[in-house]
Amino acid sequence: MKYAIVTYGCQMNSADSGLMAAVLDGSGWRPAESRDEADLIVLNTCSVRERPEHKAYSLLGELREWRRSRSAAVLAVSGCMAQRAGEHILARAPHVDIIIGTRHFHRIAELAARVSRGERPLVELGTDDDPSDWRCGAAAAVAAARLRAFVPVIRGCSNFCSYCIVPRVRGSEASRAAHDIEREIESLVSRGTREVTVLGQNVLAYGRDLPEGLTFAQLLERLEGIDGLWRIRFTTCHPRDVSDGVVRAIAGLSKVCEHIHLPIQAGTDRLLEEMNRGYTTEHYLDVVTQLRSRVPAIAISTDMMVGFPGETEEDFCRSLRLYERIRFDSAFTFAYSPRPGTAAAGRPDQVPRQTRLARLSRLIELQNQIAIEVNQRRVGEEVELLVDGTAHRGRGLLSGRTRTNKQTLFAGDTHLIGTLANVRLVKAHLWGFMGELLVQGQTL
Ligand code: SF4
Repeated sequence: MKYAIVTYGCQMNSADSGLMAAVLDGSGWRPAESRDEADLIVLNTCSVRERPEHKAYSLLGELREWRRSRSAAVLAVSGCMAQRAGEHILARAPHVDIIIGTRHFHRIAELAARVSRGERPLVELGTDDDPSDWRCGAAAAVAAARLRAFVPVIRGCSNFCSYCIVPRVRGSEASRAAHDIEREIESLVSRGTREVTVLGQNVLAYGRDLPEGLTFAQLLERLEGIDGLWRIRFTTCHPRDVSDGVVRAIAGLSKVCEHIHLPIQAGTDRLLEEMNRGYTTEHYLDVVTQLRSRVPAIAISTDMMVGFPGETEEDFCRSLRLYERIRFDSAFTFAYSPRPGTAAAGRPDQVPRQTRLARLSRLIELQNQIAIEVNQRRVGEEVELLVDGTAHRGRGLLSGRTRTNKQTLFAGDTHLIGTLANVRLVKAHLWGFMGELLVQGQTL
């Protein structure tokens, strides 16, 4: 029996898809080469914006014939869209057999077996934290260990930004026990992982819900002590939660990389307040100043939204001016799309689609110009790369990531893959750098 998983959305979703793949592998399933070959197809969906939901519905439409022509096949929809619109999905696509919410990924094999026995449709949407989900996730990550690995440490979010569906579909914040995280990373390292990205929708909130009251900075200190681990990254961060301890951890812990993803979302205090973001532009600038003064090499990336309800041309221009002042290394830019069930979706002052798209193009143009200028200023620097493979762009080149999370390509022998190498940055691009090899560093 073979399976295929189609993943939409963020790194948490990729980690959840990895979990389901490992659970299925452990239950005797094998990955299919193509959807036609699959007996089980899982769409692991995203609800953050309209577009990935449209894509998922469109694929469900395409899979109608696939499901009709195979009486023993199983079609599952999992993740945020499943959690948000489970029954509605079944009404619109009755050929779906399983709906799996955001806390039941580990049950995929059991649910598929029940469908094979004739029970359908099955809907699992409870949002209570289930420790066996964490355990399966850890086992899955270890089984699929690679040079770089994602390690979820907190699920859900308790912030309720007015445009965001995540707290409603992922539930409130639920942290994982620190010793379980350490054990998982130690197991990953024993299988060759050298860089971990610690994940959470709001990773800096880690520990608040734990009885021992551990902070995220303290978790980083504990992970720093893991032998054989070279690099630690984390994402994504709420600007309000960047504590002095977090800044000290980035500045002082040698394995914690000099990069932070710090979504700003808007550049005026009125919009930030209406978004319920919980900080002002002044606070955000203060965090950036602290980070840059204590970690001069730090790269800061962000998320920027245009077209939030009520955004005027003046708001938009003020936001652009703020972004020009901050000069982000990179940004995920997107146009607001109303998510049913959120506070902002019901506002009468929605910005017309054409205006949103026009502002998005202007924002992208500005951010691209800034990003290339920021990269150009780094040309000539010597940096450490974790070499992760051969490059997709440019034949015969290797690819690696700087500690600031910039892709860098250089000419070198494939035996460097999996090592730390020192390169000089010789040419800047929007996507990263071309480099030249100086010295091979630490090896596995
Ligand atoms: S912090 Fe805000 S935008 Fe981020 S997941 Fe939570 S509610 Fe959504």
